[in-house]
Amino acid sequence: MSKREKKPSLSNGYLMMTILPLVAVICILSVFVINGYGAMVTDLNVENLETLAEVTLLQFDSAFPGDYALRSVKTAKGEGLELLKGTEVISGKPDYFDTWKEKTGADISLIYADTRIITTFSDKNAARAVGTGVAKQVADAVYGNKGVQKYDNVKIGNQIYITVYLPLSNADGKVVGMLELARTKASVDIEERKVLFPVILIAVLCILFFSVISLRFAGRVLNRIKALELFLTKVAKGELKESLDTEVIKTKDEIGEAGLAAISMQKSIRNLVDKDTLTEIYNRRYATNFLQKVLEKAEVSGQPFAVCIGDIDFFKQVNDTYGHDMGDIVLKEVATLLKNSMIGNGMAARFGGEEFLMIFDKTGKQEGAVILQETLEKLRQIEFTCEDQKFSVTMTFGIVDGNVELGQDALLKLADEKLYDGKQNGRNRVVV
Ligand code: GH3
Ligand code: MG
Ligand code: MG
Repeated sequence: MSKREKKPSLSNGYLMMTILPLVAVICILSVFVINGYGAMVTDLNVENLETLAEVTLLQFDSAFPGDYALRSVKTAKGEGLELLKGTEVISGKPDYFDTWKEKTGADISLIYADTRIITTFSDKNAARAVGTGVAKQVADAVYGNKGVQKYDNVKIGNQIYITVYLPLSNADGKVVGMLELARTKASVDIEERKVLFPVILIAVLCILFFSVISLRFAGRVLNRIKALELFLTKVAKGELKESLDTEVIKTKDEIGEAGLAAISMQKSIRNLVDKDTLTEIYNRRYATNFLQKVLEKAEVSGQPFAVCIGDIDFFKQVNDTYGHDMGDIVLKEVATLLKNSMIGNGMAARFGGEEFLMIFDKTGKQEGAVILQETLEKLRQIEFTCEDQKFSVTMTFGIVDGNVELGQDALLKLADEKLYDGKQNGRNRVVV
């Protein structure tokens, strides 16, 4: 099976060259913006969490002033430990942090050494995750006096959190524990999406807006180019009466100019095909087509028409006496006179040599003969000058009434016979 060759199209080219690259650029930019924005939102959340941790610690310290200390106690199970802050036993009393969590939405743990003593986290049995430890990396940093620790990707239980660890020190400056504040990454992501949604929406709207505007403009341009292409294809096939879609030349831009050039090219070709090059009036080919159309029209309408052949008298002598160039001047002058006298009545054409064909549309031979008489009179008045010699020419015309029964050839033959009669009987006349 032969592969069908894909025709290159301007609209595809336009899409490939403008809209697709634009969409790609906006998409790439959006990815960068989204990533950058995402990182920024996460950083902001970590900062907020740190501020919240500091406030929490301040409040906690003022609620429970004093140092942290472990104390042995006897419990039902035997020896145990409890954590004191000042004089207050704080271990096993999560209420303070629970209230704080309700207000802020952040999970809070108080870690002594590397173990959560109080926490709002739950373990997988929904019990408080008291006694769970923190990552070694965190403990090393805090107890290595590296100050506040912040993370944006910490796994606690089954969830990923952003976390802040504030060192807790006693009055002697020794770091004994840490306050852990955490927010789930999921909650931060929701916030991130809320911020990013308008950005994405604007990007999508930008793409849509530009694409619509761009495609509409391209569509109009392409339609005009297509109309021009169609017109030129028809001209190339010889359809010389085809008219160009006015949309193409409505705007005088490059396409409009190309349209005007195409129209004048069509006109030039039509002139070359239909007109005689010397006299610039219609040629024999055009005249016979015209006669055929008049015959067909008359067959339907029944309206009269007349056919006339005219011939310049003694034209050979003009050439012989004044030269061939002068003969050409005479031919042009006669052609112009005949053409002008036929305006509104039909058509005049050069039939060959110094012979002309006139077709009177909706006009019978009597009426036609009157016009020819007037024309002949005008011709007699025309004075040609050649090297100080003045001369004039005359013509003989033979005119017959149109007859749809006879057809073209017979009508021309009849008109020619009348012309012959005129030549035989002294020329310079109209023979009806
Ligand atoms: P008649 O009155 O019987 O028509 O005589 P005539 O001399 O006009 O007729 P004839 O047929 O003998 O001569 C026609 C001449 O027209 C001969 C030819 O050289 C000349 N002729 C034909 N075409 C052209 C042309 O394009 N230019 C010029 N200058 N002469 C032409
Ligand atoms: Mg002649
Ligand atoms: Mg002749």
